[in-house]
Amino acid sequence: MANLKKSALMIQFIGKPSKIDWRRLPMFDKLLNFHRFDLKITPQTAFLIRSGNDDIEPNKIDMEFVRIETPYGRTVYIPGSSLKGPFRNHVGTLLKGMEKNVCLLERGNDCKEKLNKRSPALENYNKACYACRMFGSTEFASIVRFEDFFPYRLNDTPDQKARSIKSIEKYSYVRHGVKIDRKTGSASRNALFDAEAIVGGEFFGTLVMKNPEMWQVAMIFKAIEDINLGLQKIGGMKSRGFGKVKIDIESVNVETFSDKITFFDLKNGTLSLQPSIKPSDGLFSKSYKFTDQQIEDYKTMVYGNLKDW
Ligand SMILES: [Zn+2]
Repeated sequence: MANLKKSALMIQFIGKPSKIDWRRLPMFDKLLNFHRFDLKITPQTAFLIRSGNDDIEPNKIDMEFVRIETPYGRTVYIPGSSLKGPFRNHVGTLLKGMEKNVCLLERGNDCKEKLNKRSPALENYNKACYACRMFGSTEFASIVRFEDFFPYRLNDTPDQKARSIKSIEKYSYVRHGVKIDRKTGSASRNALFDAEAIVGGEFFGTLVMKNPEMWQVAMIFKAIEDINLGLQKIGGMKSRGFGKVKIDIESVNVETFSDKITFFDLKNGTLSLQPSIKPSDGLFSKSYKFTDQQIEDYKTMVYGNLKDW
């Protein structure tokens, strides 16, 4: 079955002149590496991830921080999707600045119209813009996936988790505001609103990249640097000064299937890095764990080895 599928793809690529070398196709389907970034997010200003239940109950505040029931208590948290949006947005801006194709930032440029469900995955990937290659599109999955972030670490004890949930609530406060009519610049009618914000505490979670190209790992490092500079904010009420956060990379874990860290690369086939630290052996793979200065060294290595992409 697998062979049949492959030969069908080959015919398609031989039949249609294309810049893609079909011999690279298996590389695209083959899992070469996983990157897992363990992150800590610390709000630096008021911070609000809005709950979807806004404005339903009249007696509640207008904009509430999103909460979820956990075995350790009901807690504020950051859904992964609330992080992916700002990352996609900022990486898109960076890519555009480097004159890479990014759809939706200009009229009539929408990957959705170029991609075809029946085309081979690599063909769609090649046609898609850089942002869609990294963050997904209707026709293929995102390389980047954010898990939900909680006020505790996953390997904390249940007691520690319950304490962290209680402790972050002391940073919750409600800000009263006045809605400004954008046209007239004055306060609009029915204009008072309340917004809940978290102004301290820490959230922990993981960003996973499945089979990224090397430039995509570089973009994640760069986006985190820029978020820490305040160039991209996260959550609601950004125009009111909310949403500056600090993101600490606590560790970068790379699963790889050879001694080197090998990446799929659309232009070059594959690219490899040879870190100076030794990987540990797993059942099927080797894994590198970078912490502290090793993270900076790995980032420098990634930045320094980007070929034309
Ligand atoms: Zn696109």
